[in-house]
Amino acid sequence: MKTRKIPMRKCVGCQESKNKNELIRILKTPEDDVIVDGSGKMNGRGAYICPSVECLKKAQKTKALSRSLNIMIPEEVYADIERKMLEFEAG
Ligand SMILES: [Zn+2]
Repeated sequence: MKTRKIPMRKCVGCQESKNKNELIRILKTPEDDVIVDGSGKMNGRGAYICPSVECLKKAQKTKALSRSLNIMIPEEVYADIERKMLEFEAG
């Protein structure tokens, strides 16, 4: 019997591997927009991050998110992600 593996993804902030469902997916669309993919099913290049502002700040400071998506991410996109995270936390 094979046990079903839960997909693990690494947070670009704290670099910890976590269950995919516990992370927020940040997506680069084919139009080079950086958005939060709430459904986790949109096509494009994705990066994962904990729903934590702390991890977001870390990813911004180290440019890990930028590197992971291979795109320059402007300040306002980080602010937008932060807003989404606060919504995520609020449920
Ligand atoms: Zn994290």
